[in-house]
Amino acid sequence: MQKEIHPTYHKIEVTCSCGNTFDTQSTYAEDMLRIDVCGKCHPFYSGKQKIVDTAGRVEKFNRKFAKTVFSKEDKSTDSKKDK
Ligand SMILES: [Zn+2]
Repeated sequence: MQKEIHPTYHKIEVTCSCGNTFDTQSTYAEDMLRIDVCGKCHPFYSGKQKIVDTAGRVEKFNRKFAKTVFSKEDKSTDSKKDK
């Protein structure tokens, strides 16, 4: 091995968003690593359906969808009230 070109391989603590923590070895610069999904909570292993939504995309879609669907309904009800 060449000297001073390899990152340090050390023990780190991984913390998942579900609350599960475990130790592993990594060249990651920090001693702690936060992850969104792990082997305990991933749908494939847990057998439960779970939406992995990190960037709020589901919420964004629901907002957008609600706007298109309900705005049409609102218009139709408004026009009925007017008549
Ligand atoms: Zn997890």
